[in-house]
Amino acid sequence: MATERTLSIIKPDATKRNLTGKINAKFEDAGLRIVAQKRIHLTPAQAGKFYEVHAERPFYGELCEFMASGPVVVQVLEGEGAIAKNREVMGATNPKDAAPGTVRADFAESVGENSVHGSDAPETAKEEIAYFFAGLELVG
Ligand code: UDP
Ligand code: MG
Repeated sequence: MATERTLSIIKPDATKRNLTGKINAKFEDAGLRIVAQKRIHLTPAQAGKFYEVHAERPFYGELCEFMASGPVVVQVLEGEGAIAKNREVMGATNPKDAAPGTVRADFAESVGENSVHGSDAPETAKEEIAYFFAGLELVG
């Protein structure tokens, strides 16, 4: 499998509870390398643009408000099959369905406040990385 990069976000519910290090340890233990990372505070409009694909879903307004409610840590994870591997480490969207030991099983508070975002495909990974990072910020 090829080396890939994927966009990860540690969401406000997790930064608020000081879980960045514990979540990063799960990524690194799974063989994912954090090749770029920064802590930022999104505006609702910036969160809305990021989650534009969900604009018609009933939870969109709440999701944008939540993502702008506190700092997030945006990061680029690199590794063999990084997109699927990160989705595995994250666990299912709803923490009730997440496998034991995943980030969401261990830390998520609800289906909305579920601690992490991860890109779902190569094309979205590319777009999402470009939304947050300039080429010069990706040091490998
Ligand atoms: N979400 C929500 N309610 C739902 C489904 C999703 O609040 O019923 C939120 C949740 O924060 C989720 C995000 O919207 O992580 C994006 O949804 P998606 O289906 O893409 O899940 P993910 O890819 O994050 O697992
Ligand atoms: Mg998704």
